[in-house]
Amino acid sequence: MVDISQSQTRLSEELLLLQELGFSDIYVHDFPAVFRYRNSGDSDTDSDLRLLEVITAYLTTGNPGDVVAAAFDKREQICLVLAKSLTIGSADYVATRAFLLALRNADTWIDLYPFLATHCKRNVDKRVRKLNESITDLFDDLQLAATEYRFYDIENQFPRSRGYRRIKYPDEPPTPQRFLRDLMHICVAQSATFELQNNEASLIQYMELFGAADALRRCSFLRHLTYESHDGECSVLKGRVERLKRRLDKVCQYARTAALIRLVKRLPSVPFRWVEDTLVGTGEGSLEICRNPMEVVERVLDQHPLSAEQTEALLRHYPDLCKNWEQRSRFVNTHVHPELRIILDLCRPLLSGPHPPPGHVAPLPIGCSKRSCLCCIVWIDLFNDTAGMKCVTGGTNGRPCDDWALPGAAGEMKQVSNWRYFDKSVVNGIHRRLDILIGSLTRTEEGETHISENGGFPEGSPADWWLAAA
Ligand SMILES: [Zn+2]
Repeated sequence: MVDISQSQTRLSEELLLLQELGFSDIYVHDFPAVFRYRNSGDSDTDSDLRLLEVITAYLTTGNPGDVVAAAFDKREQICLVLAKSLTIGSADYVATRAFLLALRNADTWIDLYPFLATHCKRNVDKRVRKLNESITDLFDDLQLAATEYRFYDIENQFPRSRGYRRIKYPDEPPTPQRFLRDLMHICVAQSATFELQNNEASLIQYMELFGAADALRRCSFLRHLTYESHDGECSVLKGRVERLKRRLDKVCQYARTAALIRLVKRLPSVPFRWVEDTLVGTGEGSLEICRNPMEVVERVLDQHPLSAEQTEALLRHYPDLCKNWEQRSRFVNTHVHPELRIILDLCRPLLSGPHPPPGHVAPLPIGCSKRSCLCCIVWIDLFNDTAGMKCVTGGTNGRPCDDWALPGAAGEMKQVSNWRYFDKSVVNGIHRRLDILIGSLTRTEEGETHISENGGFPEGSPADWWLAAA
């Protein structure tokens, strides 16, 4: 049997190469492990996910590699379960207690601003900076698209913005076109100079930015640009607008605390715990990766060496591939991602008790401060199928993450004795995706294979990766 460190090193190298090739799996968004609101039966899961995602946003510092996941353990008294990729320290407990205390004493999100400034400054500043990049980049294109868009009445075009408009335009209501333009200008101006400080001037600026960002993220015009089925240049615009909407959401997320404040007032002494289990038999550790990405390419294609034509074809698409690889650290530190830490911690006791029949299993929503990666979703989906669980996360970016560690023997629990199958399927699934992608890039016959705009999967590839991997 191959040692887990060997499998992990190969996997990390292949994930890294997929990253360098800009790969994103568009099909994984539809996996059952990614929550989709389908009907009113999903409303509890939906509201829990929103609560959990706000909690993880507030508990994330923005330091490199700091990703937080959270779930509710509802077996007896409700308990907030928290996990992160990095080592848990006393500062995490201090911050969590301070956050829960601030929530108990808060009437609105504005009362949480001092905590935000103390604990989350780096992350808030990063989110605002990224919003500034997106809106500045899209400004002219959105203005142009607005000239071709048919605006109806302002109430429908900009839902839930009446209060904001009354304050901003006390004398005369704006036209929808003018309101859109003003919102974009405010977002650009306020995000360009923002730096989170624990003072009134900073709070006022954040409120200005939030007011405009919140109205903009809900507007029908942006929804129209992301809902439509677009081709060619329009599909590129669609992707950029989707990113802008995500970044507007991220900046506004800190203000979506009303339900959380109500919950903490109802359960003032809600207990919490950080998952600090020492996992044994995982792929975690510091790994040395190979010096040359072409070694990975040759291994994946099982071709030693590549022909000059194949190498030339690959480097024509990615001329900086070797340079980028050389410039990065030779070592990768891998971690079991926090979503999986929550699952490993919570599902063990859940599976050891009486288990409801299929169809009656309650979803286990897991909130995360960052959208889940490709490997996490593939692993969770396999785990759910095998263990009869319904763990769901709020979203995925479909992207490979080179620091993803195989859970290995830590995934062994009652009813899940064949944990090797999950790891093997993830390893094979990543290998297969890379094989097809490189195969299409190095094909030397006449006619080049289409590569989608964001480095996504080539057209005509098999959609069912779970089956392809198994
Ligand atoms: Zn992940």
